[in-house]
Amino acid sequence: MPLFPLRAPAAALALALAGASAAAAEPVPSACTDFDAYVNGRWHATTELPAHRSRVGSFDTLRSGNAALLEKALAALVAEPARQTSPGLRLLAAYHASGMDTAAIEQQGLAPVAPWLARIAALTREELPALLGDLARLQVAAPLSLSVGSDALDADRHALIASAAGLGLPDRDDYLRGDDERSKTLIAAYRDYARTLLEAAGAPADAATLDALLAFETELARAAPTRVQRRDPRAGYNPYTVEGLRALDAGYAWQAWLSAYTGRAEGAPLIVAAPAFAAATARLAQHAPLATWQAYLRVRLLDATAEHLPRRVAQAHFAYRGTAVRGLRTPLPRAEQTVLAIGGAYGGAPLAETLGELYAASAFSPQAQARAEQMLDDIRQAMRQRIDALPWMSEPTKQLARAKLDAMRAKIGVPERWRRYEGLVLDAADYAGNLLRVNAWHTAQRLAQLDQPVDRGRWTTSPHIVNAFAAGGNQIVFPAAILQPPFFDPAADDASNYGAIGMVIGHEITHHFDDRGRQFDASGNLRDWWQPADADAYRQRAERVAALYAGFEPVRGVRIDGRLTLGENISDLGGVQIAYEGLQLALARQRAAGREPPLVDGMTPEQRFFMANATIWRSKTRPEALVNQLRTDSHSPGRFRVLAPLSNMPAFAQAFGCRAGDAMVAAEPIQIW
Ligand SMILES: [Zn+2]
Repeated sequence: MPLFPLRAPAAALALALAGASAAAAEPVPSACTDFDAYVNGRWHATTELPAHRSRVGSFDTLRSGNAALLEKALAALVAEPARQTSPGLRLLAAYHASGMDTAAIEQQGLAPVAPWLARIAALTREELPALLGDLARLQVAAPLSLSVGSDALDADRHALIASAAGLGLPDRDDYLRGDDERSKTLIAAYRDYARTLLEAAGAPADAATLDALLAFETELARAAPTRVQRRDPRAGYNPYTVEGLRALDAGYAWQAWLSAYTGRAEGAPLIVAAPAFAAATARLAQHAPLATWQAYLRVRLLDATAEHLPRRVAQAHFAYRGTAVRGLRTPLPRAEQTVLAIGGAYGGAPLAETLGELYAASAFSPQAQARAEQMLDDIRQAMRQRIDALPWMSEPTKQLARAKLDAMRAKIGVPERWRRYEGLVLDAADYAGNLLRVNAWHTAQRLAQLDQPVDRGRWTTSPHIVNAFAAGGNQIVFPAAILQPPFFDPAADDASNYGAIGMVIGHEITHHFDDRGRQFDASGNLRDWWQPADADAYRQRAERVAALYAGFEPVRGVRIDGRLTLGENISDLGGVQIAYEGLQLALARQRAAGREPPLVDGMTPEQRFFMANATIWRSKTRPEALVNQLRTDSHSPGRFRVLAPLSNMPAFAQAFGCRAGDAMVAAEPIQIW
């Protein structure tokens, strides 16, 4: 029995082909006209979006199967304490039980956040900086977020990092778009949400308060970097001392703010990602009415904890963040919500790894890991060959590119050791309190590491997450949960696997060579290792990628932002190319061993590689969520992750016999890597 009730790639391909040959009923475009419709058209026409999902597709289907598996394991973990064999699993059992105990949540009301609401109610101008620092310890961004991360110039050292955050609308541009209908709808929904939160706190929630709140956040939004600006690592690297911060604004008690966060009397060195935003915060701290700050802080605190609070607040959170922003009709089932709250969408929440531990005990296959490592070797080798052959790059830059590729560290499957969570105690009947405890504990842990070297073995995601990551420090991460059908199937042949998980591996490798990633060296430090002429040649090619994607209009009137999505698109273009060449290395090995790769369902390995590739990107998204994605997400919609890379790949045209002039054949293919 497979772990997940999903079709293996080979079966999925056979089905897609059946769709292609059922052309009599509905005209299906040819592979050379529209490869996405050719492979995914029938799936698209017959797939329904469940009311509690904003998107369905290969990732989402695997996530649902995964969530079901985790829920079963969680229920057993809570019911049978003997299964709680590690500190992480004990904490997970308590946290999950508290999330499922909706009666206790209703009974507690806002008691878990009451001390914070009381501090906000008693706020004075003098107390404000320290309160903002204390809220940052709970990971309530109000409005600057603070964290301990690695120093971009020296990835082995930790640094305090202050970033722009604390805006209620999904995008800073939503405050500034004026007559845009979508932004107006979001603002109206956010006002409703803020009103409910303020009323729940027993605080003023009249129209004047909401107007002032929106004006306050708009002033912050004006000072916030755009999502495109945030992609520039140099613009985001601004080291400050407390004296430097005073030069930014002499009137704000920067030291009091930082000390509240760090617990240190002296100011630690700080990297400010958005100095203009920090200055705006300092200005507002001195000049905005205290009543506006109080409304703002109540909303931020309750927004951050809403999903852990009673129904009235949680429903308001869903009406805004679920329905208005993402078009959802109904919330996720309770158990799935709780899993998401514990682990976070990308496995970055402090206790995420406990879910990974549970997942690995039920579902991890060391064989999958071994096979993935072989694919990674092939695809890395393919990338090395492509670097060697690049016509636009000089030898000195190639040498450093190869060194970076060789030094890239891969994390596959599960961490080498599980965390111990020393000092953390949770209460099985206090869900919101647990969230605050976990966040404060995490901040204290990270602050204790501030003066120590970065542990490069530490995971920043969790094995239960269906995703893959290019992480800081020149690392790539493939959690156990993505080493599953339809991405990876130990029973399938290489063609399908290289087209699916192989493409994902190629994509993550290429991220360290995309327009942002290329600015970091082999050690993961922000350092320019490029010959100037090579950097120019790169930028010219990247410009063509940006222009290509900016030409796509997935929703009438809303185009892909070619600059916001540039890194992802470069990684898609390069990733499928090196995965394909990695497959060729694997096929050559088979042929050398006297085994000719067979036709399957009448298709060559090359054809099946591209079919598998198109299969993993199929997706169906709610209109609200699609507009939200186009405006805020760095990933292009799935359809364009098929069409653009493959139409720029001569090997695709060759595999399907496409000719010049066909829609899937670019007149002048763009190839960077
Ligand atoms: Zn990516």
